[in-house]
Amino acid sequence: MALIVQKFGGTSVGNMDRIKNVAKRVARTFSEGNEVVVVLSAMSGETNRLVGLCHEASEFPIGREYDLVISTGEQVTIGLLAIVLKEMGYNAKSLLGHQVPIVTDSQFASARIESIDGQKMKEELSKGTILVVAGFQGVDPLGNITTLGRGGSDTTAVAIAAALKADLCEIYTDVEGVYTTDPNVCQEARKLERVSYDEMLEMASLGAKVLQTRSVEFAKKYEVPVMVRSSFNDAAGTLVCKEDEEMEKVVVSGITYNKNEAKISVLRVPDRPGIAAKLFRPLTEAGINVDMIVQNISQDAHTDLTFTVSKEDFKRGLKIVQETASQIEAKDVVGDPNIAKISIVGAGMRSHAGVASQMFDVMAREGINIQMISTSEIKVSCVVDVKYTELAVRVLHEAFGLGKSEVVEEKQG
Ligand code: ASP
Ligand code: MG
Repeated sequence: MALIVQKFGGTSVGNMDRIKNVAKRVARTFSEGNEVVVVLSAMSGETNRLVGLCHEASEFPIGREYDLVISTGEQVTIGLLAIVLKEMGYNAKSLLGHQVPIVTDSQFASARIESIDGQKMKEELSKGTILVVAGFQGVDPLGNITTLGRGGSDTTAVAIAAALKADLCEIYTDVEGVYTTDPNVCQEARKLERVSYDEMLEMASLGAKVLQTRSVEFAKKYEVPVMVRSSFNDAAGTLVCKEDEEMEKVVVSGITYNKNEAKISVLRVPDRPGIAAKLFRPLTEAGINVDMIVQNISQDAHTDLTFTVSKEDFKRGLKIVQETASQIEAKDVVGDPNIAKISIVGAGMRSHAGVASQMFDVMAREGINIQMISTSEIKVSCVVDVKYTELAVRVLHEAFGLGKSEVVEEKQG
């Protein structure tokens, strides 16, 4: 007997038929002798609709009531699933975030989970109850309803699995697992059998949309095994787990791209201590996250500084930087939203040399100009003109041997 957390995304609970299918799968897992906690998203499109309504109500709706409104989609799906399960003769109970309770900080629209009390859930599970918990929501210490950021029900699921020391957290979604790259861009994309927490963390934050980044941080911290799989078939998914020797042998496991960033360059900045702090502090204060940063060596005591922000922060960021730039007597500020960040990720990079230069060679061969570069232990990212995104992804996928395995091709031939 195992304790399993099963999370179903918006498409998987998109209508009543699908909710009934989810109920069947949950019932099967339960009948096999497992304790089951289900975590649900809202029906697909519902959270967007609620966000839209809030923006109709106010230009700046984020705050206590915003979270109260956008968290309601999950209340509907968990209630419906619990009703269906009861109708099928099972003991089921739906729980909202505050009923668990899942306690978060008070950062509305992007709250972080602080603690989950698993005691009551454990008691219910031992009595043979299937628990159906609302994803995406929590409660702050003052009793306000909070939400965990878009895609946050992944994090609810993993955090509950961690709190209950579950044997497995299954994330059911509309794709079959984690792929070597986006199958919509590259037909050769292949489903990965396993991927390490660190690789998944990089992939999620670099643009792969299967899991919310925060959920992977939780999984890594508490070593929760996470299985990403399809809710529409029984195909084995991708296991996100601890790195082992086998994984280190694979140099590159995935290629990701992100078109959601924009580039800002500050030209001829006086090169003195404190200048970078002056430039970036106002951005931080405005809640704007800076991703890649590149600073040139200085010539006659001036330097150029380029960095990226998300597209939605671009206009606001540009304005803030223009103001600071004139204060610090920089020559000019230029912005470019037509960029993409292409990244290669692989645990094997820790022990293999020359991976970055191989990436640059491939780009050079295709005549793709690299505008910025950043690296970590297990990834290399390049910023390029957005028009090269698909080309870059395809040639890198091929060059690092990520295509469909030869064995399959031989059989077909
Ligand atoms: N329903 C929320 C959203 O659309 C949470 C989730 O789906 O994970 O962002
Ligand atoms: Mg999601």
